[in-house]
Amino acid sequence: MDFSSIPHPAPVPGETRQQALADPGFGTLFSDHMVSIDWEEGKGWHNATVGPREPLSLDPATAVFHYAQEIFEGLKAYKQADGGIALFRPEENARRFNASADRLAMPNLPEELFLESIRQLVKADRDWFPSVDGGSLYLRPFMFASEAFLGVRPAKKYKFLVIASPAGNYFKSGAPAVSIWVSRNYTRAAPGGTGAAKCGGNYAASLVPQAEAIAKGHDQVVFLDAVEKKWIEELGGMNLFFVFDDGSVVTPPLTGTILPGITRDSLIQLLREEGLQVREEPYSIDQWRADATRGDLVETMACGTAAVVTPVGKVEGPDGAFTIGTGGPGQITSKLRERLVGIQRSEIADTHGWVMRID
Ligand SMILES: *Cc1c(COP(=O)(O)O)cnc(C)c1O
Repeated sequence: MDFSSIPHPAPVPGETRQQALADPGFGTLFSDHMVSIDWEEGKGWHNATVGPREPLSLDPATAVFHYAQEIFEGLKAYKQADGGIALFRPEENARRFNASADRLAMPNLPEELFLESIRQLVKADRDWFPSVDGGSLYLRPFMFASEAFLGVRPAKKYKFLVIASPAGNYFKSGAPAVSIWVSRNYTRAAPGGTGAAKCGGNYAASLVPQAEAIAKGHDQVVFLDAVEKKWIEELGGMNLFFVFDDGSVVTPPLTGTILPGITRDSLIQLLREEGLQVREEPYSIDQWRADATRGDLVETMACGTAAVVTPVGKVEGPDGAFTIGTGGPGQITSKLRERLVGIQRSEIADTHGWVMRID
């Protein structure tokens, strides 16, 4: 599919952009352009455009406002040591986007079109890479039901968009390890629900427990399973790994209530290459507490595209608080983070074919 290209008539002036890029934060600064593609029943995907980032004009009856038929992805473009630009396993994002689309009764977007959209946007906004250490261009592809219709059925019109946001460090505090609150009153996903789909609705449901975590002085919330309220699932937007002193690692299995993270999948492979034994099996909050207290559990890490690999230092559960290891970043966590970031920036050889150059 050919993209029509409309350069921004009044891009952000260079000096203003450079100032903003020195301290981009996360999710508040946006580049000049966006990609937009439409879908309509009987017509399929059409109208692919890379043009100025601008407000959308939507009928108040647009389906997404009422029944939340919306999915998204999150991936980063990384500046390489040689000045080039690369993506990390973007085909996995394209594939997962369609898996989410299937669950939300939305049309599939050809994987090549997903990838081409990202290439087009990064090319248009290649001056928007942050100048800060560890910075990247965060890409947000998403799709929503754009038909104006109040009946409850899958919409007959959709919009796919990609926007870009220069990103510094995800966690504001910049703390070496995060503190976690175990939600007692709320769950994230139930069997048969949408937990494995990357849809906005899952996040809407996580905001109250996340606010509770913040109010209790923690950074993030961890969810337990909805049936027994016993098994650890994941954070609002990150998967978890538990590292033991015998060289084994446990991560919760993909049973349909957990988001299948691409970082999660990459870490499983990297950990195995480090000689660690990784098991995908259920792990309970009581066991976590007991193992951490006894010292058998030495590290816990949270992972996802936005924050990469982040150590969990403290946990406050139903039976009080406990500390993981020394409460700071552990050895495996730090090593894995360095390896992954190194591969993403092509400072370490990419033996898996994970890095896709796009320049
Ligand atoms: C996106 C997401 C993750 C992490 O997935 P990555 O592919 O590693 O970025 C984990 N949990 C949830 C709920 C998510 O939405």
